Amino acid sequence: MTERIVVVGAAVLRDGCLLAARRSAPAELAGRWELPGGKVEPGEEAEEALVRELREELGVEAAAVRRVPGEFPLREPYVLRVWTARLLEGSPEPKPLQDHDELRWLPPDEVWDVEWLDQDVAAVLEVVRGV
Ligand code: C5P
Repeated sequence: MTERIVVVGAAVLRDGCLLAARRSAPAELAGRWELPGGKVEPGEEAEEALVRELREELGVEAAAVRRVPGEFPLREPYVLRVWTARLLEGSPEPKPLQDHDELRWLPPDEVWDVEWLDQDVAAVLEVVRGV
């Protein structure tokens, strides 16, 4: 079996709302929404990767809070693990060069108003169960 590569996703929560990021690339994912995040690099802890990805993708300082139960399969060899996160500094801004062109803060009754990536749906369900 191929070694799994962990992708971390952040459920950034603020005032009871969940942050969703709309992908601008690649073409087959453009327009769909995801939990911001990305691949853990060699030698990096998952929580460190989460903090780095939020800095790179959204320009904020954030902290991982709690691991969301479960591991969600992506296209092989990737698996998605999710942490809730809170903002420490800054206000998230989409960075098109980092593959996001829009952000939304979703209150609980709007969480399913955006078209999440198929592979993020199970993770978001688990996040919603836990808050
Ligand atoms: O951002 P990065 O290219 O490092 O992400 C690695 C892979 O994980 C990409 O294929 C991306 O589509 C996927 N991913 C995902 N759900 C997320 C974050 C990333 O499916 N919430």
